[in-house]
Amino acid sequence: MRLPDWAMLWRRPFPDANLLLLPGRQAAVIDSGFVAHAHQTAAWVRSRTTDLTLVVNTPWHSDHVGGNGLFQAAGAGIAGSAVDATTLARRDPGCCNAEYLDQPVDPYTIDVPLYDEQSLRLGDADWQVLHTPGHTPGHLCLWQPDERLLIVGDVLSDYDVGWVNLGLDGADAAATAWQSLRRLADLEPRVLLPSHGPIPADPVAAFDAALRRAQRLVDDPAGAVWYGARRIFAFALMIRNGISRGEVAPYLAGRA
Ligand SMILES: [Zn+2]
Repeated sequence: MRLPDWAMLWRRPFPDANLLLLPGRQAAVIDSGFVAHAHQTAAWVRSRTTDLTLVVNTPWHSDHVGGNGLFQAAGAGIAGSAVDATTLARRDPGCCNAEYLDQPVDPYTIDVPLYDEQSLRLGDADWQVLHTPGHTPGHLCLWQPDERLLIVGDVLSDYDVGWVNLGLDGADAAATAWQSLRRLADLEPRVLLPSHGPIPADPVAAFDAALRRAQRLVDDPAGAVWYGARRIFAFALMIRNGISRGEVAPYLAGRA
């Protein structure tokens, strides 16, 4: 699956989300990596464009917004879900689920709140914003209809589907995630750009597998809770460079 030559993808391993640079008159990056790598992220972008206008976030989790504070201080605008904007503006401790997930995030605010079906110029192309709740209530995807490119954030990857937080977002979160997936599949994109892992070779097969996984999360809420907990803990192990065996039980008992 080929990207148009005006899009530059930096595939990054966890704890960073992949970064997509769209250079042009309104140069934009999609997602900004983990906070500990913010300077590395900024250097990569700076070596490819000198006039970054906008950072757009898909979910507001730490692996997607870590460079926001640095880019914002350097003059770029931050575009993110309108659903998240008020919480961020009042610096609510729930911002980015940073406290809940035990994942540090540098403070930032949303300069350009985004709404479902809004059109947005990124680089030199027009994109459509899609509000795709599930993994987070404010999750956004971006659709470029001429190239049939779909930026899917954490809704799905080539090997997985976004975990859902039934404890925080309610019992319907898994069904909501399934509906968002269905809506994206119906666009019949040519290229899928997930925030983690490779570009899926076959978008239809990737959606079929993701819809099956999402259905399992709907059918088995207890399993969905454990799945989310495992993903969150795996992330904690990564960003803390491991947790010693004796500290695991108290660490877990201290988490929301
Ligand atoms: Zn992510």
